[in-house]
Amino acid sequence: MAEIPDDSAALLQLLSAPGSAVFFDFDGTLVDLAPTPDGVRLEAGVVDALMLLARWHGGALALVSGRPVAQIDAMLAPLILPVAGVHGVERRGADGTRHVAATPDVSSVLAHARALAAVYPGLLVEHKRGAVALHYRLAPELEQLCLQEMTLAVQACPGLLLLHGKMVLEAKPAATDKGGAIAAFMAEAPFKGRRPVFAGDDTTDEAGFAYVQQIGGQGVKVGSGPSAASLRLASPDVLRTVLLAASVSPFKE
Ligand SMILES: [Mg+2]
Repeated sequence: MAEIPDDSAALLQLLSAPGSAVFFDFDGTLVDLAPTPDGVRLEAGVVDALMLLARWHGGALALVSGRPVAQIDAMLAPLILPVAGVHGVERRGADGTRHVAATPDVSSVLAHARALAAVYPGLLVEHKRGAVALHYRLAPELEQLCLQEMTLAVQACPGLLLLHGKMVLEAKPAATDKGGAIAAFMAEAPFKGRRPVFAGDDTTDEAGFAYVQQIGGQGVKVGSGPSAASLRLASPDVLRTVLLAASVSPFKE
């Protein structure tokens, strides 16, 4: 495994260990980021690898994303996995039960973001359950303006928190995060009693890293930038290589 860079060898061991529970972020982790959220492409073999790895772990594999659950389902079709969406606002457990957290009213933030996007066509607004994302990837020069406007909008809206991700500002409920979403999975079968490993790439994933490491698991930061995660991989491409290797290795024995 020496030729694989970063902490690939350590991650491969964790993904193959019989007692692991596996959690993946989606964008920037399993898939490369694209100019727009709709533009991401899942590489061949990833869905099959996720299916095999989920089976190896008795179903203890979940996706934890900022996207709604329905979008993740559409991306992974025909594979249906346990998924937490909108940073934990929505969650479908391994038994198929759906959970939805109470969310603050985001209509004033949505109106604010849409008004801004009407003036600057490079901006893209996403309305999700209890959250509003303003993407400026197509107009990076507008970062400061977007930050200023979204900060003001969120300040006027109790219960919301502003996350600054990669070329995106997202107003989301302060009460839910990816750490809480992973904790909810870990309280249920088949995750319960296993050791969690969570891979993610962005600000929103830090809450997940903190939680899994607090209970004896490992966080894996994909890409550059500061992180509390104990392990690091260079890119989504490296993660996919490890994922594909992990999905076949247990069955070779
Ligand atoms: Mg991500």
